Amino acid sequence: MSLAEEKIKKFESVSSEQDAIFFQAMEEVIYSIAPLLESCDIYKKNSILDRLVVPDRIFKFKVTWLNDQNEIMVNTGYRVQFNNALGPYKGGLRFHPSVNEGILKFLGFEQILKNALTGLPIGGAKGGSDFDPKGKSDFEVMKFCSSFMTELHKYIGPRIDVPAGDIGVGAREIGYLFGEYKKITSSFEGVLTGKPFMFGGSLMRPEATGYGVIYFTQTMLEMENKESLEGKICTVSGAGNVAIHAIEKLLHIGAIPVSCSDSRGTIYDTRGIDLALLKEIKLEKRGSLEEYVKTFPEAKYIPVNDYPQGAHAVWDIPCYAAFPCATQNELNELDAQNLIVNGCVSVSEGANMPSTPTAISNFLSHKVCFAPAKAANAGGVAVSEFEMAQNASMSHWTFEEVDTKLKNVMQQICKRVALTAKDYGVEGNYVDGANIAGFKKVADAMIAEGI
Ligand code: NDP
Repeated sequence: MSLAEEKIKKFESVSSEQDAIFFQAMEEVIYSIAPLLESCDIYKKNSILDRLVVPDRIFKFKVTWLNDQNEIMVNTGYRVQFNNALGPYKGGLRFHPSVNEGILKFLGFEQILKNALTGLPIGGAKGGSDFDPKGKSDFEVMKFCSSFMTELHKYIGPRIDVPAGDIGVGAREIGYLFGEYKKITSSFEGVLTGKPFMFGGSLMRPEATGYGVIYFTQTMLEMENKESLEGKICTVSGAGNVAIHAIEKLLHIGAIPVSCSDSRGTIYDTRGIDLALLKEIKLEKRGSLEEYVKTFPEAKYIPVNDYPQGAHAVWDIPCYAAFPCATQNELNELDAQNLIVNGCVSVSEGANMPSTPTAISNFLSHKVCFAPAKAANAGGVAVSEFEMAQNASMSHWTFEEVDTKLKNVMQQICKRVALTAKDYGVEGNYVDGANIAGFKKVADAMIAEGI
């Protein structure tokens, strides 16, 4: 049995049911780094893998709050501080009913390697709650955030752990969380990123993940000698922060993004998605995409339940490049086959781990350029680190300054990943390249810091 297989068996035996998704992320990384583990005795000697897959600590706490009917509501809050070998713990907060320890361990683990790839001094963490902001009033969201922070503030700090947003946590939630932190600690400090600009947020943080995915893809296509995105049909899933800004950047560069989706259905608009309408529906009204066809009846709305089970409508639309930007495991083997049959040349993950392992194998074996999340969506955390730097120096950078730095980081990540893949004999495999490059950086720091 190889060392990788031995480790996978060992970790599987101690994984709980909730850990299935964490295990999925871990297994991919272990297979990618297998050649490194076999050839470099130092990683074995320092038990790096055994140490890396266990979070430094996990906080789990009760969050009680009053709803608008003055009833007491109870949710669970978490913060998984995974690894701080390279810098303070850093990673988003997710508010969604599906949140549990396993999902946050998967996201925190991915975040360690993603943050390492940026080349910036940040460790990996993730947190959140099973609270669902959907359908709640602003006041209810505020009360939940205040209560969540009364516990979370004990564990975070600008040099300790700096949370940001994720699914269900945008500028509104970050604002309420920041306000409560300030009240409890009497301290105005950069303890959260993704803040509104007026009290310390970085320009371009909302756009960063979506724009970054497109910058990464442009570099990848150039390196792989493929045609650029200009004038090409692109499909995007999701209709949140990442999807909207990926669509925005695609429009800026002259591509034609024809789709978006939410948890209830998919929009297919062959003329290209109308960005202003999409923002109005999802950002201002927090409504359903079904509303899109009321304004543009020539577009198609495909409700989730009207599509044959097993595949997703958005991945059955012919395209040159696909951008899954909604959630984990939203693109499966059938979806991958549909994309391949329809001639898709490139798939870039805006969401965290949106493609299943079998979908990824299909892409790699059919030579589809595949940009894995931990490399392609690192733009958000990169600009979060820029926000930390601006807060620490009490300064503000211009939009252009941040955009130039973001583009540079994404190009550097792409080149590092491609070169690492080449160095390890798997040229063109950005999954292995990203896992090996990220792992090496964290592992070397862990060894230098002792046990
Ligand atoms: P948002 O909450 O802003 O948007 C998520 C979108 O995905 C919503 O449109 C939501 O639909 C849709 N969605 C959620 N679940 C499903 C589902 N099962 N099927 C179809 N659509 C679904 O989140 P973000 O855009 O911030 O995050 C999206 C992904 O990107 C996540 O995986 C996140 O971890 C990742 N990411 C985000 C970063 C950021 O900077 N925000 C940074 C790096 C990664 P509905 O509107 O109906 O809820």
